[in-house]
Amino acid sequence: MSKRDIMQERVKKQFAFLRDLLSKKSRNSLSIKLIVAIGTLVLIGSSIFWYMIIIRGERDFISTAIQKTSVCANLMEQSLRVNMMRGHIDVIQEILEKIGTTENIININIYKHPDGDIVFSAKKENLRKKMPSESLECRLCHKSKRQLTTLDKKRWSIYEVEGQKVLMLAVPIINEKGCVTSMCHSGQAKQRFLGVLEAEYSMADLDLTLKRQKIFTLTFGIIFTFFCCVVLCIILWKLIIKPITLLAEGMEKVTKGELDHRIEINTKDEMGMLARTFNEMTKELKVARERLENWAKELEEEVRKKTEEIRRGQEQMIHTEKLASLGRMAAGVAHELNSPLTGIVTFAHLMLQRIPPENKMDREDLEVIIEQAERCSKIIKGLLGFSRALPAEKSDIRINDTIRHVIDMVKNQAKFHNIKIITDLSPDLPEIKGDASQLQQVYMNLLINAADAMNDRGEIRIATRLIKEDGVDYIEIEFTDNGPGIPEEYMGRLFEPFFTTKPVGKGTGLGLSVSHGIVRKHGGHIIVKSKVGEGTTFLIRLPVRPESKEG
Ligand code: ADP
Repeated sequence: MSKRDIMQERVKKQFAFLRDLLSKKSRNSLSIKLIVAIGTLVLIGSSIFWYMIIIRGERDFISTAIQKTSVCANLMEQSLRVNMMRGHIDVIQEILEKIGTTENIININIYKHPDGDIVFSAKKENLRKKMPSESLECRLCHKSKRQLTTLDKKRWSIYEVEGQKVLMLAVPIINEKGCVTSMCHSGQAKQRFLGVLEAEYSMADLDLTLKRQKIFTLTFGIIFTFFCCVVLCIILWKLIIKPITLLAEGMEKVTKGELDHRIEINTKDEMGMLARTFNEMTKELKVARERLENWAKELEEEVRKKTEEIRRGQEQMIHTEKLASLGRMAAGVAHELNSPLTGIVTFAHLMLQRIPPENKMDREDLEVIIEQAERCSKIIKGLLGFSRALPAEKSDIRINDTIRHVIDMVKNQAKFHNIKIITDLSPDLPEIKGDASQLQQVYMNLLINAADAMNDRGEIRIATRLIKEDGVDYIEIEFTDNGPGIPEEYMGRLFEPFFTTKPVGKGTGLGLSVSHGIVRKHGGHIIVKSKVGEGTTFLIRLPVRPESKEG
């Protein structure tokens, strides 16, 4: 942007501001009131000032005129006195006529006092005329016919003749010693005044100069006042109105929520201080608002989390309720099927004993019946376990012993021939109250699951330890395999009854749910940790009875 463009932009802005200032909306504003008040004051002040200057000038002109005329009249009076003393009467008339032709001197008369006869005059035709006692010339020295005013008082008058200003001046001719002894006034010793010299001076030139002076003064006064008003307005605008307008605009914007708005007043005066304080305040306001918004967001997030927790809790409750109904139903069905299945297996065994060994086909068929019936029986037992239909027989047990017992059982099974079982059993475990056979069922489930996951080939680590969780002592039993791990999407469903990823006929999906039920019945819980490709860890935590200790 060039300098010219910047100037143009500035002028445009100032015009826009003035337009706004004079608009209807801002007619009641402080700025317009200030400008009107100061403008009026300047106008009144300067009017008085220029009026005084004009009056003063007029007075000075008049006094100059009077002074000039007085000097002239006094000179005349002196010359008259000298010539009278010497008896040169003709010379006096001659001098007066000569002076009468001087520029601006209208007339000079010399009156005899008190008769009023004009004895000498610049205009010959006035000679021998008599001045009436009520004439202006007489009234210059006399208040009334007889009373004489003091001589040092004003003895001049200005009047108009045919539109022209005329100054008339009266100089009294005082009776002095020499006058009484001279031939012209001998014997008039008692008379104070012998006559009056009256001069008429035209003020036309002076009047013209005065008029010009007035016009000049007026023009200058108006220009000066206008200039003063403009300068005052600019100063007022720059120092007060503009900053106030900016402040007002800023406040309005901040009220509307624009907390980024900054007031650009960089002066060091009170306005600048106000703007800086205002900017500081909006900055703090913004920080406070952001903090508040963050709090609101955090609160929202907290509420959302809690709502989610409540929703999950409700879902869990509904799920538990469903499982409980399912368990009750399963228990009923399992109970009803258990007796006929036991009958089938028993009688099938009896029949098998009766069939001769050479009847191989019948024996094989019967063995299939027994096998399938036993499988059904196993499923039903699982169902009964899930529904807790099997009562727990709790006694003081040693966890390490129950684990060793299960390891002894599985060691001989073909499934575990290629699986290395590593144990790390803590010797300091306390005894706990529990159902050993149910807990062994849990270990068995976990070992079979691990073996299945590893395709009967790998490593299982079994460890026991004493831990503290939320201030409660637990015995923790760890089963870790190096199988393929459990995918993330299955983790939440592992303990659901009938959830299985095993092929049909191999898995029932009851192992973990039954185990979970048994551990819960012992006051404990199961934790699963798994990483795909690395392996799975099941942690069984059973609470400890504080008084009992394993030996
Ligand atoms: P089932 O063994 O009859 O499938 P479970 O409830 O015991 O039923 O197990 C449910 C599912 O959990 C299994 O099908 C399997 O997918 C998964 N599972 C359990 N233990 C492991 C393990 N150690 N490694 C990998 N997957 C496992």
